[in-house]
Amino acid sequence: MKPMIDLKRQYLEIKEEILFMIDEVLESSQYVLGKRVSELEQGIREYHRVKEAIGVASGTDALHLSLKALGIGEGDEVITTPFTFFATVEAILYAGAKPVLIDIEPDTYNIDVSRLEKKITKNTKAIVPVHLFGHPADMKAVMDIAAGSGLKVVEDCAQSFGASLDGIKTGGFGDAGCFSFYPSKNLGAYGDGGMIVLNEPQLADTIKKLRNHGSRGGYRHECLGYNSRLDEMQAGVLLVKFKRIDEYNRKRREKAALYTRLLSDIVTCPIEKDGAYHVYHQYTIRNPQRDFIQQQLREHGVSSVVYYPIPLHLQEALNFLGHREGSFPVAEQAAREVLSLPMYPELDEADIKYASDVIHRCLKG
Ligand SMILES: *Cc1c(COP(=O)(O)O)cnc(C)c1O
Repeated sequence: MKPMIDLKRQYLEIKEEILFMIDEVLESSQYVLGKRVSELEQGIREYHRVKEAIGVASGTDALHLSLKALGIGEGDEVITTPFTFFATVEAILYAGAKPVLIDIEPDTYNIDVSRLEKKITKNTKAIVPVHLFGHPADMKAVMDIAAGSGLKVVEDCAQSFGASLDGIKTGGFGDAGCFSFYPSKNLGAYGDGGMIVLNEPQLADTIKKLRNHGSRGGYRHECLGYNSRLDEMQAGVLLVKFKRIDEYNRKRREKAALYTRLLSDIVTCPIEKDGAYHVYHQYTIRNPQRDFIQQQLREHGVSSVVYYPIPLHLQEALNFLGHREGSFPVAEQAAREVLSLPMYPELDEADIKYASDVIHRCLKG
C-alpha cells in the first residue's frame, strides 16, 4: 500500500545527523528544557520574527496554556470552527471556556469570517482560527474584527508551520501562535512536542510559569501550573529538521502543483488565495463521489484519509453543546466530500501520477 506519509524515508536521509544529535543529548545528560530547547526557541523566534517562542509538550498544550495565560476561563466564550482536529476544542474546554462554533469557507475549509461578528456576545473573549491543511485563515479580517471587539486571538498553527499570508508567517498575527511537532506535522519530532510564539513579554512570562508547575525555578511556585515541557531529545531532532523546513515545504508545494495539474479537470482541488503561501500539510480534494474514489484508490493500493469525517459539533463527546445535523451545513458537506491524498516532501512523482490516473479512470469509467 502506498502510504499517506513516509517518515522512515525522511529519517534515512538525515539519519547520520539525527543519531549524532541524539548521542550528544544522551551524553550531555540534560534531558528537559536545556540548551537545545533554547536553541530551537531562538531559531523559531527569528523565523517567525516574534519576540518570544516557548517550547511545550504538545500542540494541544500550546493552545491550552495560551488560552489560560490570556485569562480565559469559566463563563467565557471562545469562537472556532467545527471542521478541525478535536484538540482545538479540547483546549478551549480544558481552559474552562465554552467553544462557540461557526461554519467554514467551502474552498479553504477555514473560518468563514463573514459569520464572525454575528456570533460575538458580551461573553466572547477570544477567537481561535485554524490554518487547516496548511492554508492560512483570513487573518486580516480576524484581526480587524478582534481589535474592534476587544477579543484575543490564538492561532492554531498545528498544520501550518511555514505558511504565510501577505509575507507574515502564521502564528505572527494573533496574541499567540500555537504549533504542534507531532511526528506527522510539517515540522515533526519523533514524539510529542509543541511551541507557542508571541510578542508580549508579560504573557510569555506567564506561559513559562504554566509549563513548569507555576515556577520560574528555585522551587518557588507562584501559581498552579502544569508539567508541559519540551524535552531535549525532541528539540535536537527538531533542530535537524528545522534547518530544512523551507525546503520540505517547497517540495510539498511542488507535489501539490503536480496533483492539481493532473486532477483539476475532474475533482475540486485545493486553492491558494491571493497573498497566501500554502504549505500543504494535507493535499485535500473534494468530490461528491468521495467514498467511491477512496474505495478505488484502496483497491489500487493507494492510501487516502478523510480529514475529517465527523465535524466536531456532531461528535458524541460534544453532544452537550446542543448542536445537531444541519447546524453547520458547509462543514457537514465538506465532511462528506473531502479526501486527503498521500503528501510528504519525498513523495515520488510517479506515485502522484498513478493516484491521479486511478481517480481519472474511476470517475470516467
Ligand atoms: C495536531 C493538531 C493539534 C494538536 O497537536 P498535538 O501536538 O497532537 O497535541 C491541534 N490542532 C490541530 C488543527 C492539529 O492538526
